[in-house]
Amino acid sequence: RKPYQRLPEWLKTKVPVGANYARIKSDLQARCPNIGDCWGGGEHKTATATIMLMGDECTRGCRFCSVKTSKTPKPLDVNEPENVSQAISKWGLDYVVLTSVDRDDIPDGGSEHFAKTIRLLKLKAPQILVECLTGDFKGDLECVARVAYSGLDVYAHNIETVEALTPYVRDRRATFRQSLKVLEHVKKIKPNLITKTSIMLGVGETEEEIMDALKELRNINVDCVTIGQYMRPTKRHMKVHEYITPEKFNYWSEVGNHLGFLYIASGPLVRSSYKAGEFFIGNILK
Ligand code: SF4
Repeated sequence: RKPYQRLPEWLKTKVPVGANYARIKSDLQARCPNIGDCWGGGEHKTATATIMLMGDECTRGCRFCSVKTSKTPKPLDVNEPENVSQAISKWGLDYVVLTSVDRDDIPDGGSEHFAKTIRLLKLKAPQILVECLTGDFKGDLECVARVAYSGLDVYAHNIETVEALTPYVRDRRATFRQSLKVLEHVKKIKPNLITKTSIMLGVGETEEEIMDALKELRNINVDCVTIGQYMRPTKRHMKVHEYITPEKFNYWSEVGNHLGFLYIASGPLVRSSYKAGEFFIGNILK
């Protein structure tokens, strides 16, 4: 089947505005369709930002991701935990997502770097809720535990797609089972920590495969799921197989609620941390 490539109306977004947006934008560069909502605080004024740690070169090469790949990325900046935590504590944020490239070149995958950043941030600004979106640390559960015990509020790790498409969509070192193991371990060692994952639709998955993935996630007590449309970053990346309709996204939202997730965000423009702050602050963490 020939992939459908023209952008449907529901995927076109408005230009972001707002004072908080302008303030943070002057410090950072980022590309996301919801950026005005996040940094401006959206209609409920919960300001959220996502920060990428450990450089801009990833040791992996997933077929949907626009981050640069390198077998030998630059060494970690030892001052980053201090500098990042200091900067974030001044931005007036309610919720921050710390994420990173995958650093398979570092023995602990950068887990101590992550943990240190969280500890410092919680010292400087304990009121900011912290979500970490980590890689799979090659399935090393000690690394997972290091981050899980660092004082964060939400542990996120993305499965990205259904099991059958994982070898095609993600780097070959990532597997669906390994990702489930990460999420399962977090809940096992820290049952009160919220776990979260994200799935992109439109890469060729079937409805049955999505249903199976959601059930597996619920079986290992994953609390939150976000489901969004895959958008091709450049022509060098894998093609969009299909643009899923808003109605179908609503359907997955209903399915998720029925399965008993604490939170499910499902929509064409939903991204990994879409309105996470608003939801967690309003419903779960306070
Ligand atoms: Fe991108 Fe993460 Fe894959 Fe690296 S591991 S290529 S940052 S999605």
